[in-house]
Amino acid sequence: MKIEDSYDETARFAKLSEVEPRFWEKKKLEEMNKTEWELLCDGCGKCCLNKLEIKGKIKFTNTHCRFLDCQTCLCKIYEHRFEKVSDCRDIDLQAIREKPRWLPKTCAYWLLDNGYDLPPWHPLMSGRADSVHEAKMSLKGRNIVSESGIEDYENYIVDWQDL
Ligand code: SF4
Ligand code: SF4
Repeated sequence: MKIEDSYDETARFAKLSEVEPRFWEKKKLEEMNKTEWELLCDGCGKCCLNKLEIKGKIKFTNTHCRFLDCQTCLCKIYEHRFEKVSDCRDIDLQAIREKPRWLPKTCAYWLLDNGYDLPPWHPLMSGRADSVHEAKMSLKGRNIVSESGIEDYENYIVDWQDL
């Protein structure tokens, strides 16, 4: 059995009852525990697009990591991602504050770290994982292609408003 075959998309909110309501308004990112940290991810999948750095700016492409599930916009190998994908980045404070910015401007971690509130479509605000998709803030339904076999990433650069 392949690792990705055992991926459970419903596990994402399994620990929601373990955290304080609206914990993100009471704690800084630095103070959050692992459960809180993981729940902050909105599940948009946009950080799993391949990117290029051109003249000091990050350009997103519409090519995605081969382990991204395009329907749920979740990683199919989340617990094993760093073993399997050498350039998969951990979303830590350093990554969030890196310049040039490589996380999308809707990323919940980036928003909170820069003094913004979570948007109403964030699953923690709505109480539903699907709200990020319904608001069209995730990759679901977009024109994206798997990175497998792609070499000329320059031809896939996109300029979406929410990147
Ligand atoms: S961009 Fe941010 S909020 Fe969206 S999937 Fe990546 S880490 Fe989660
Ligand atoms: S391995 Fe990393 S880049 Fe690939 S889908 Fe999973 S989290 Fe995203």
